[in-house]
Amino acid sequence: MLALAMRENSSQLVPINDSGRQSSKCLFGLDADALAACMVEAGEPAWRGRQLAEALYRQRIAELDAITTLPKALRQRLATEGWQVGRPAITQVFQSADGTERYLVEGQSGDGLTVETVWMPEGDDGEIGDGSDGEIPQTPDAPGPDYRSWETSEPSPTQKPAHRATICVSSQVGCAVNCDFCLTARLGLQRNLTVGEIAGQVLAVFDRHAVEVGRDRVNLVFMGMGEPFLNYDNFMGAVRLLMREVGLSPQRMTVSTSGIVPGIERFAAEPPEFRPKLAISLNAPNDAIRSQIMPINRKWPIAAVIDAVRQVKLRPRERITFEYVLLGGVTDRPKDAVEVARLISRTGLAAKVNLIAWNPGPGIEYQTPKPEAVETFRRTLTDAGIPAYVRKPRGRDIYAACGQLKRTMEG
Ligand code: SF4
Repeated sequence: MLALAMRENSSQLVPINDSGRQSSKCLFGLDADALAACMVEAGEPAWRGRQLAEALYRQRIAELDAITTLPKALRQRLATEGWQVGRPAITQVFQSADGTERYLVEGQSGDGLTVETVWMPEGDDGEIGDGSDGEIPQTPDAPGPDYRSWETSEPSPTQKPAHRATICVSSQVGCAVNCDFCLTARLGLQRNLTVGEIAGQVLAVFDRHAVEVGRDRVNLVFMGMGEPFLNYDNFMGAVRLLMREVGLSPQRMTVSTSGIVPGIERFAAEPPEFRPKLAISLNAPNDAIRSQIMPINRKWPIAAVIDAVRQVKLRPRERITFEYVLLGGVTDRPKDAVEVARLISRTGLAAKVNLIAWNPGPGIEYQTPKPEAVETFRRTLTDAGIPAYVRKPRGRDIYAACGQLKRTMEG
């Protein structure tokens, strides 16, 4: 049974043991159509798939036996055949003095590997100026939830205040891109995350903070461990799942890439109403410096990345974000700022720049830039007509800040 769903979502189906016993298979990560196919193959009506999707993604039920909308006999049969919900779970929490929380999240494969996910109450200002704060338009013929009804309900005096937060989500265990300033790079790539493992980080954090979809204002940034565009299908599968089944707006999601040109080209071909916003991890004023700190630049230099980005059709008010990590004495000099301003102006793109003062990590020899250098850099860009914002460092004391995700992986 359930072979169809297994074929359609093969990356989702992972054994929990390698000893030849019955493999366990994860329902979490399958969309409503795949769940309906499961039910039909089980001899059940297709609408049971919708019931399952409702239970997994709206009610956020994490145990098969607790899905009481399914008959008990069906739940037992699914369990006997090796199915489980298989939602990723938080196994460790690190709390920062500034309210940021970093989590180790264990996935669906049973290999014991964890990834890191970060909750930033109030965010880190990374979304400023990218169109997130504008009215969220609804594409008339787009299926799925009506995002216009989002974030409009006033809390009653007895309700808790609405959350405003950002969740930083991982897409791979480790990373192969090998940026010189990043701790995650030191892990190398261990494996890709499945659709369920990417989306599951979000729901695990939602549960921890009792996030109410449709009321709380939570942004997702796919900027955690890994390069999302080197795990493109599972990354976009998770985005679609979070949109269609959980009810999140893609306009509150941003994906950051180090500049994987084939990935950017695929992204550009996605319908605008079904894709997150795009951020490019630029980090250097020219190819010479970028190739030193980001070896990926030797394969896809800045001009090739920009050409690919130009193919992305922007929504009204949307801007491309250029992320720029300021490395003291390396990329934070006044002449670097002038060069970045020229580079971005020449692209002609609707763009903004997020500046990130480098966060120190053990074994990495760069220097944190001086506050004056950060401010001078920002002003040089804004004087050139380029919106530029300094991202607040969040959770430095728990190694949750940009580029620091890995610390606890070392054991
Ligand atoms: S900065 Fe991002 S792309 Fe570069 S090594 Fe770290 S996780 Fe990978």
